[in-house]
Amino acid sequence: MAYRLQYRRYRLPFRAPLRTAHGVWAEREGLILRLEDETGRVGWGEAATLPWFGTETADAAEAACLTLGEFVPTEAFELLPSHLGCLRQALVAARAAESAPVECKPMPVAALLPAGRTALARVEPLAEAGFRTFKWKVGVESAGDELGLLDDLCARLPGGGRLRLDANGAWDRRTAEKWLERTAERPVEFVEQPCFAKASQGTALRRQAEDLLLGLAADYPTPIALDEALVGDGDVEHWLRLGWRGVFVIKPSLCGDMAATMQKLAAAKAAVVFSSALETAVGAKQALATAWRWTGEPRALGFGVWPLFADGRFDGPALAPFLRWQDVQRINEEAVWNALS
Ligand code: MG
Repeated sequence: MAYRLQYRRYRLPFRAPLRTAHGVWAEREGLILRLEDETGRVGWGEAATLPWFGTETADAAEAACLTLGEFVPTEAFELLPSHLGCLRQALVAARAAESAPVECKPMPVAALLPAGRTALARVEPLAEAGFRTFKWKVGVESAGDELGLLDDLCARLPGGGRLRLDANGAWDRRTAEKWLERTAERPVEFVEQPCFAKASQGTALRRQAEDLLLGLAADYPTPIALDEALVGDGDVEHWLRLGWRGVFVIKPSLCGDMAATMQKLAAAKAAVVFSSALETAVGAKQALATAWRWTGEPRALGFGVWPLFADGRFDGPALAPFLRWQDVQRINEEAVWNALS
């Protein structure tokens, strides 16, 4: 079986630049793939590259598409090197026959709060709209300022409401400990990636950061979630081997071999949160399909991101406290493709 491969590169400004501990992020780059088999069946994928997160660049993904050429034998997909995880994932998604998820129940969505004090005013309207899980970016301003806002924020949560804190790896040990002492008695579902060392910082620092995370997870009652620590195919396996009992934040768009990763997580009965990589609706459809196929305990989806782009044609379903499988199925990949022509 051979496929006809076409791609369109995109560079899309966000409606508003995002502030995280990684800095200010104003636009998103990536590729939309269109794959057509010999019978004329068309599949779609998105290589939503995030180089600062540890994936390949959009340039590298495009170069690999050019090397693959327009007509690609199916074996060529398996031969792509593992550092092209986003592209591999996109090709596999585009090739796979669309299979219905096991269960079609609506899934709760976590609302994304802006960093800093601006978050306070957002909680109540979102709670009124029905949201119960809120994600707040921390590690952006000084820890003192942010810690000072935590109680105000918790006080605004609706009954049963919970907060996810995402530090994007910004804290050192002392800051993380200070936070985890405070979150112990508060409605905090988890603290996401309190500390992190990139692979480029060397094995010793990386090992140190891992030990720190394992130590924090053992010493404090608030669960800790891994996000930045899970980029390559081997990372989930690595943390499962280390016996990680915290949460795994999975961004399916960045996961080179999603099916195998899901199997390993399910076998370990891991706690999994599915999260957006701020991809377009094409990648989001694939990522959400993975979330619906997950057989473990469902947790609020990290997909409270839309409207996201300055050009709304690239957005997924409108922000709502629950997402239905029908809303996901309704995403029209061809419309996104045409918007790029
Ligand atoms: Mg995160």
